[in-house]
Amino acid sequence: VRATSEGTPVKAYAPSMGHLFLRRFQLVTQFRQAVETGQISVHYQPKVALPSRQVVGAEALVRWTHPEFGRVDPDEFVPAVEATGLVDVLTDFVMDRALERVRRWLDRGLRMSIAVNLSVRTLGDEDFPNRVSAALARHDVPSGLLTFELTESGVMADPERALPVLRRLHAIGVVLAVDDFGTGYSSLAYLRQLPVDEVKIDKSFVLGMGTDLGDMAVVRSIVELGHSLGLVVVAEGVEDDAARDQLVGMGCDVAQGYLISRPLSEDRFEAWLRARTVQVRGARDETVLTL
Ligand code: C2E
Ligand code: MG
Ligand code: MG
Ligand code: MG
Repeated sequence: VRATSEGTPVKAYAPSMGHLFLRRFQLVTQFRQAVETGQISVHYQPKVALPSRQVVGAEALVRWTHPEFGRVDPDEFVPAVEATGLVDVLTDFVMDRALERVRRWLDRGLRMSIAVNLSVRTLGDEDFPNRVSAALARHDVPSGLLTFELTESGVMADPERALPVLRRLHAIGVVLAVDDFGTGYSSLAYLRQLPVDEVKIDKSFVLGMGTDLGDMAVVRSIVELGHSLGLVVVAEGVEDDAARDQLVGMGCDVAQGYLISRPLSEDRFEAWLRARTVQVRGARDETVLTL
């Protein structure tokens, strides 16, 4: 029996485990250089208001094109990077790219928000709110156009530790969203204690809604309770018209998923936006509408 870096005892390695361990080790040690050499990029997935289908913003999702492994999924490398001190490098990189996008949109009359995913680690970092303020000032972006998505399990892992940072972020005026809601152990009532503005229903429930009455009931109750707590309710994993129509019927506020668009590279996202931008008569700003 040996111990991993986290101190968890594990059985001796089978060859495949050794392989995975080596790959994880490589990802962690190569991450900083990967950022510096342009292997890390940010993709964007639109969020649309229901029922209008107006694009209200996008979520920034990190991508790694590794010279040896090819495209590495964030589900694999984000947890590896989180286990080290390098998560700051990741968060700051994505936030900087994301705010640069918002600034460009504003410059051409598009008022859209951007959502950045935060790691649990970052919620314990007392310097983080200062870096957020500095980044907003550097890009001259109003704080209300930046959303942070925190996973339910991340906040719940250590609420005492996360709360001071959440309060300071909220005081800056950024929007706070609880991601993957419904998968953890917390109740919506608990959310009342947190300075949270938005709740994102986990995609597993939204994907299951068409075939599973239980999933449908979970989605419906998150929408209702979310609204009764004054939260904006977002559904992720909206893949077909049937799901969207059901969500409209329930009064869900915002939808995100393959039906609207997959996450797209910066260039492809800009082209996607341009193809859908309309100038509404009399309005100062432009609007992006999806079919
Ligand atoms: P998430 O924040 O819950 O992001 C949603 C995930 O669902 C994304 O996977 C997205 O591509 C996928 N998705 C979107 N629409 C659909 C759909 O209609 N159907 C299905 N089946 N999937 C859909 P992705 O990009 O692989 O990201 C996975 C997770 O990695 C994210 O989950 C987030 O927790 C984490 N992540 C991504 N970027 C960052 C980052 O910059 N920082 C941190 N800390 N975590 C990140
Ligand atoms: Mg994935
Ligand atoms: Mg997210
Ligand atoms: Mg999610």
